[in-house]
Amino acid sequence: MDWIASKTGSLLNSTVQVIDQVVQSGTNFEATLSPAAMKVVKGVMGNDVLSAGFFLMIMGSFYTFFKDLFVRYYYEIQSWFYVSVEVQEGDDTYKWLSEWVAERPLTKSVRHLTVKAVWDDDSDNDDYYGNNNSKDERPRLLFMPGMGSHILYHKGYKVNVSRDRPDQASGADSEQSRILASIQKKQCLTISTFGWDISRLKTIVQDAMEESYKKKEGKTTIYTSQPYDNYWSGSSTRSPRAFHSVILAEGLKEELLEDITTFRNSSQWYHDRGVPYRRGYLLHGPPGTGKTSFIVALAGHLNMSVCIVNLGISGLNDQQLDRLLNNAPRNSILLMEDVDAALVKRKAGKAQEGGNNVTLSGILNALDGITAQEGSVVFMTTNHIRKLAPALIRPGRCDRKMLFDYADKHQIEGMFLKFFLSRPPVAVKPASKPLAGSTPTTTPAVLSPDYDSKEKGRKEAYDAMIKRTATKMAEVITFKDSVTTAQLQGFFMLHRDDPENILDEVPGFLAELAHE
Ligand code: ADP
Repeated sequence: MDWIASKTGSLLNSTVQVIDQVVQSGTNFEATLSPAAMKVVKGVMGNDVLSAGFFLMIMGSFYTFFKDLFVRYYYEIQSWFYVSVEVQEGDDTYKWLSEWVAERPLTKSVRHLTVKAVWDDDSDNDDYYGNNNSKDERPRLLFMPGMGSHILYHKGYKVNVSRDRPDQASGADSEQSRILASIQKKQCLTISTFGWDISRLKTIVQDAMEESYKKKEGKTTIYTSQPYDNYWSGSSTRSPRAFHSVILAEGLKEELLEDITTFRNSSQWYHDRGVPYRRGYLLHGPPGTGKTSFIVALAGHLNMSVCIVNLGISGLNDQQLDRLLNNAPRNSILLMEDVDAALVKRKAGKAQEGGNNVTLSGILNALDGITAQEGSVVFMTTNHIRKLAPALIRPGRCDRKMLFDYADKHQIEGMFLKFFLSRPPVAVKPASKPLAGSTPTTTPAVLSPDYDSKEKGRKEAYDAMIKRTATKMAEVITFKDSVTTAQLQGFFMLHRDDPENILDEVPGFLAELAHE
């Protein structure tokens, strides 16, 4: 303290001398300060401690001034030396780049992360919505750096990653709209690299896109709308459901497939005639008849994605529905499930409770407004076609209406065969699971020709038995029993290890259904 006082004291003393000289030389300085103020200045200058404090104050002001200047112009100065690309939440590029960043280690020790569960289902199941009951199914955890700036190295060069959420909420008039606006604020992701070469950034975006497509290759992506979403933020990829695993009334699957294929190949036709390039389908019938399963399998078969619009979701209103339908990812099937239920709920006045404001006219407008998205199709499903407003299902909105009814002879047989028929014999390695109904045997990894023929014979005998049982099954259960394919699936699951005796269980199964 003494040292500072003496140093600053001597410095200020010389300043006082200068001021004195200025004063004595009769400049205007004296005129600018009143005699009282001059007295204070001289008093301060004459006191070592006060002058040291005065000096520190000046230094502090300088520091604050330059710091503010630096902070204020930091990004501008930085932008002179960096090139950057900014992507916004809701755009495909945001998803690609987010995953790209999440998969690379960040150099700085990031203490605040954002985590997202990503469902990449690699299992070889037959179902959607995870109905394979596999206990091992887990999402992939995607850790993203939190808000702010971060650094990572890619191919030897430094990449700055910055995440922020620009303030768009200001201007909202009510508290409610402010809250809504703050939820809806889109996040921005900015990637920048040192230098003026933009090609590195382009390569990063291109790589991120390629990586994303590679992950989705041969998979079906299912997008779901989230509460307060204006875009499709939730998605999961899964192995496509095998098209042949959905058993519909004879010819129905083929008819629908042909219709959609023709539509997707007719863009020019629509364009030439000025007809909106969209096609709507309504699948109606009792629950559990395979409507949703068919749509997901169809998407997989056509290499398309599925966007599920949940009309009953809390907070969804007409404008958001419109935006969702019009901003669906390319090459996707838009699926609106149980349309009747959403509207009935609204009529019953429950809409207010859940904050659901989708109206019939909102749905109609959104459907009519769907602009030509290459090959996009809309599917609606309902269990009660009679409850639907005629305007919703008139041609143009619903071009085809298909009944998915209770299981008929063809389906009962088909479901049974799908469940119990052995797979084609595997040439080298036997199936790891024993055949249903057979005694598990330990088999060598490489089969001897002798063993192979024995195994083949056994399978043929087993399959012949299954085919006979399937025919009988379709005689003891008939369309009149009003059994759905989902109920058949449940019944077959229950007796999956005993197909020989399953026919004995049918009366009990039907009696149980009658009581439901
Ligand atoms: P819906 O949409 O008509 O209510 P889902 O497609 O959700 O019926 O079917 C429910 C379950 O029943 C699924 O696990 C599905 O695998 C099975 N299922 C229903 N119908 C069929 C069918 N026609 N072919 C194959 N599986 C079916």
